[in-house]
Amino acid sequence: MDSRRKRDSSFISHAHSDHISRHRVPLVTPNTALLLADYLKKSDTVTLAYHEPLETPEYTLTLYPAGHCLGSAQALVQSKATGERVLYTGDFKVQSSPTNEPLEPVPCDILIMEATYGRPQYTFPPQEQVLATAFNTLRTWLSRGEKPVVQGWTLGKSQEILHHLLAEGFDVVVEEGIYRVAQTYQEAGVTFPGNLRLFNGNGGNWPDGHLLLCPPGKRGRVLFEGFRRLRIMELTGWAIDGRSHWGRRGDVTLPFSDHPDFNELVGYVRQVGAKHVYTVNGFPELAGHLRAMGYPAVHLDGSDQAQATGFQMKLL
Ligand SMILES: [Zn+2]
Repeated sequence: MDSRRKRDSSFISHAHSDHISRHRVPLVTPNTALLLADYLKKSDTVTLAYHEPLETPEYTLTLYPAGHCLGSAQALVQSKATGERVLYTGDFKVQSSPTNEPLEPVPCDILIMEATYGRPQYTFPPQEQVLATAFNTLRTWLSRGEKPVVQGWTLGKSQEILHHLLAEGFDVVVEEGIYRVAQTYQEAGVTFPGNLRLFNGNGGNWPDGHLLLCPPGKRGRVLFEGFRRLRIMELTGWAIDGRSHWGRRGDVTLPFSDHPDFNELVGYVRQVGAKHVYTVNGFPELAGHLRAMGYPAVHLDGSDQAQATGFQMKLL
């Protein structure tokens, strides 16, 4: 699942580049297939809709919405011999987004869960509160005649932010990559409460009173370099660190993420009733906290990392 190496077959949980490879037979949801159409054009792609079982002699595999971006899916594998249920979350998001399918918690016996923000300090304020702060700040900047730049990753986060900004009545111009993905979202049936406007900046065309939505790093920076009175807002869960992860430090950095915070990760383990937990990606500390709560939990990081516990994990 989510192999980064080319495989004969692999489930791709969602269209982010750190989860994909050009497998011979990738298994994806229809919306992930739409988002990865160019990337997978030489593959023999198998699409599987949410809730539609894929039967093999040994097991049933079913995909459920993961809430992380359009098309993102969790995979539930149930053994026909034992009835045991293994759930792989991929990246997921607990708080709802107006631009993708909401997370569906899936009861399971064994949970393989991402741990991106698997440290207790990554506790995010409620999303509505973060958005209200963002809106107020942006209005203040606009009222002073400044040029606000809002930064978010190209796929998923940016379309979600764009939807929120348009719904709040802001005029937004959008970097090309984000714009193209937003068009694919529209093709998939997502509606935005306002116009999608492509930014064609470098020539100096930045309409007054508009926000610019662009990705972090160089791709965004080349767009707005040369403009004066810029104000930069970063929206990322890493805001909690108070450090810059994206090169130039934003004027304001707010904790808005497409991943669960620490409490939501722990809450999800409870909610799905998992008896064993494996964590992947992110921080090994989460597995330690789960062990302290009584869950047999192990962090899998793909290296020869020593585990800090004597729990005997059940082998599948
Ligand atoms: Zn992702």
